[in-house]
Amino acid sequence: MIDAFKQASEPVTARNPAVKELKQSGRRVIGYTCSNFPEEIAYAAGMVPVRAIGAPGLGGETGPLQPEAQCSVARSNLQLALGEGFSNLDGFVVTNSCDMAQNFYSALEHYSPFPFLHFISRPNIAHSRPALDFFRFELDVFKQAVERFVGKPIADEDLSNAISVYNENRRLLKELYDLRGKGEKPLISGSDFTRVAIASFYMDKARHSELLKGFLEEVRRGPPVAESCVRVHLSGSTFPDAELFELIEQVGGMVVSDDLCIGTRYFMAPVEEGGAPMDALADRYLNKMACPCMHHGSKLDERYDFIKGQLQQCGGQGVIFALQRLCDCHLVDYQALRYRLQSDGIPCLYHEVEATIGSGQLRTKLEAFFEIAGRD
Ligand code: SF4
Ligand code: SF4
Repeated sequence: MIDAFKQASEPVTARNPAVKELKQSGRRVIGYTCSNFPEEIAYAAGMVPVRAIGAPGLGGETGPLQPEAQCSVARSNLQLALGEGFSNLDGFVVTNSCDMAQNFYSALEHYSPFPFLHFISRPNIAHSRPALDFFRFELDVFKQAVERFVGKPIADEDLSNAISVYNENRRLLKELYDLRGKGEKPLISGSDFTRVAIASFYMDKARHSELLKGFLEEVRRGPPVAESCVRVHLSGSTFPDAELFELIEQVGGMVVSDDLCIGTRYFMAPVEEGGAPMDALADRYLNKMACPCMHHGSKLDERYDFIKGQLQQCGGQGVIFALQRLCDCHLVDYQALRYRLQSDGIPCLYHEVEATIGSGQLRTKLEAFFEIAGRD
């Protein structure tokens, strides 16, 4: 069954069979960049949001509206948006995160490759009443823009249904995540888990959940995927495929937990159900797990506590930071997190990735790191 997820994890949407199927069935499909985009609003209007995570080996081209000092995710996303890669998308939504995302939006506004384009100005400060009120207002503006685009209002009932569909998918992804890290031996590899998680970006969530339920049964029945391995936590942002995870496995390690924008930052923390759906969405997408693009005072404590908690729950023996070159927000946090981890005696490895993960150099670094991390 992993093959179905593997096929659907193709980030170039024009080549992705799951996205093609959605288009053939008449669904509108819109792209988005970051895990802080409230997909449920678009889904409630009958659209299917799909994630832009760059593409393997695609470095991107910087045009006049994109400075050269951009991470490879932003560069390759723009190349896909202006070329054939995202040609089957009906629209695109960018949420305020880093400078690169804002720049990406400006370029889309100028070149206008999609019939629908929207920017959601999400505050970079969580846990604050004014920020929540502002974000709530921004979500209303977005909802109205979607309603104009699809030509019909979005009812609260549609929003509540969408929230249930997404929450179920989050719960199932978390169950699979636990089968990787919680037991004595992982029942699913880091690379296969990532394929399943990435596939969820390109399928209707209800369909993905249906497949995932069957897959969970298969994984629970199956033998462990590794008898012995160095268990690591992976910290970073976005990768367009599972290559990094595979390399870690080839060298004798296993990613058993993560704080990635394509991992836990995406599926942890459900939206509260039973109340006013737009309020619940604003609360979840502003105050969910802290990410490096946020600036509120407790952010580093939140991030550090999460990483420490994952290491304890999943038996992690060290932390690998695999960060995108030129991603300032992750690099700034890295310095503080590394200092805290090292003060607690937890081994860390830093590796910079671009359009490719730099596997030759990384293999050598991993071998040395696993020797230190795997000592106890
Ligand atoms: S670091 Fe935060 S804002 Fe940036 S892509 Fe990840 S979740 Fe989004
Ligand atoms: S990798 Fe960093 S710089 Fe690039 S889009 Fe994500 S958060 Fe922004």
